[in-house]
Amino acid sequence: MLPFSPRHEYMRIAGEKVDDQSRMEIRFPYTGEVVGSVPQASSQAVEQAFATATAYKAHLSRYERCKILQTAGELLGQRRQALAQLITAETGLAMQDTTYEVDRAKDVFMLAAMETLRDDGQAFACDISPHGKQRRIFTHREPLQGVIAAITPFNHPLNQVAHKVAPAIATNNRLVLKPSEKAPLSALALADILYEAGLPGAMFAVVTGSPNSFGDLIITHPHAELVAFTGSVAVGKAIAKRAGYRRLVLELGGNDPLIVCADADPLRAATLAVQGSFKNSGQRCTAVKRIFVHHSRADTFVAEVLRQTQQLIYGDPYAPETMMGTVIDEAAARQCEQRVSNAINQHGASLLWGHKRQGALYAPTVLDHVPHTCELVREETFGPIAPIIRFESLEEVVAMSNSTAFGLSSGICSDRLETINFLTQQLQVGTVNVWEVPGFRSEMSPFGGIKDSGLGVKEGVVEAMRNYTSVKTLALPWG
Ligand code: NAD
Repeated sequence: MLPFSPRHEYMRIAGEKVDDQSRMEIRFPYTGEVVGSVPQASSQAVEQAFATATAYKAHLSRYERCKILQTAGELLGQRRQALAQLITAETGLAMQDTTYEVDRAKDVFMLAAMETLRDDGQAFACDISPHGKQRRIFTHREPLQGVIAAITPFNHPLNQVAHKVAPAIATNNRLVLKPSEKAPLSALALADILYEAGLPGAMFAVVTGSPNSFGDLIITHPHAELVAFTGSVAVGKAIAKRAGYRRLVLELGGNDPLIVCADADPLRAATLAVQGSFKNSGQRCTAVKRIFVHHSRADTFVAEVLRQTQQLIYGDPYAPETMMGTVIDEAAARQCEQRVSNAINQHGASLLWGHKRQGALYAPTVLDHVPHTCELVREETFGPIAPIIRFESLEEVVAMSNSTAFGLSSGICSDRLETINFLTQQLQVGTVNVWEVPGFRSEMSPFGGIKDSGLGVKEGVVEAMRNYTSVKTLALPWG
């Protein structure tokens, strides 16, 4: 079944493979087979990772950094199939999703390579007011004094890591990563690709396992100057409380709406709803988690969502025709099942398709007439569910959309400028995508949320390079 034999893996510290006393197994969610094991890091291992990173000062030129990033991007491209197979093994995501993920990670490295060559300085003339002087102020950006501590989730186990490490390399920083304990194998494969591309080992360490055995050390370590976390709201807020005086980049959960307005083509909108709800098994922070449709378009729209969902092939993640694989584990599938049952039995939602579970495999599920207050859509439900909520007015849809704690992204289906303007102004979100799924982005562009989805500090290669640097100002007597 698996296209490779199980991997007995190690951490990566100073470019070396490092073991620890206990291990944890990683399983293929579709069959439960063991696909590998990784060390459960002890506090000593985390200390060692920070010590080697702290002792090293990176002095790579822009050209050298660009070459490393570009070579890593090329290697990702060459090993696309093998990496996709590895991500599928640890997540149960369909190969169609995981090859797309490898392509996106390649983009991150290629674009970071380009961005590395761009001059990050500015110049300010100072003789610009009556009390000015014939001087000039120059700025440039410097890497952090300390180390970046990065923590990533399971749902895009390669690309989330790429978004942390590529900007760190581009800015001559050192980074210690703790990937998700549910899907750490692709992060280790990426580390090896980076070393092969010429990255000094001390610039990137990977410690594995769950935080149980090393506690808060990664986020409270005295040499961790910045904590870059992507994951759930609960963990993100707990980290924010404990991290203390250091920089924080928090990319947290989402509950993104797709809003289908009265003027929208319902068939085109249905294609976006299906893509947005089921891609990556619905496990994207920016998956479509609530579908609002104007009542005048609802019947045609719902029929088309149903038709397209019925054609989705789901099941064996390795079968080339499979469009959707499993969620991360049986517990996650059970949570989807339980929230859908609750929406149907307690809140009167109508089940149109799906709601069948076999282990970690949960069928693509479509529900109509979902009350916007039920747990299924009030909380983030991380799985392949398309819950449809009908609305009458733009004011009503704005109120419903803004009524949750989240504020990540959104999609709007409308051709009317007035409607687009109104919704863009009113929606409490970090991104508005017109005629696209909420998850649409370029790896370069700013990405991130507000409210419980984040503190407004964005990621994306350009923003991350800013976050990972300090501006140094130099003033010279120079007219
Ligand atoms: P999670 O919060 O459970 O875990 C994320 C990471 O945090 C894992 O590596 C985990 O080991 C670590 N962690 C857990 N407890 C910790 C603690 N006390 N201290 C330090 N680290 C700790 O998230 P998940 O289930 O892996 O991922 C799904 C979540 O991530 C969803 O909420 C999703 O929306 C969110 N997400 C957000 C974005 C974004 O860019 N906004 C992107 C992807 C995923």
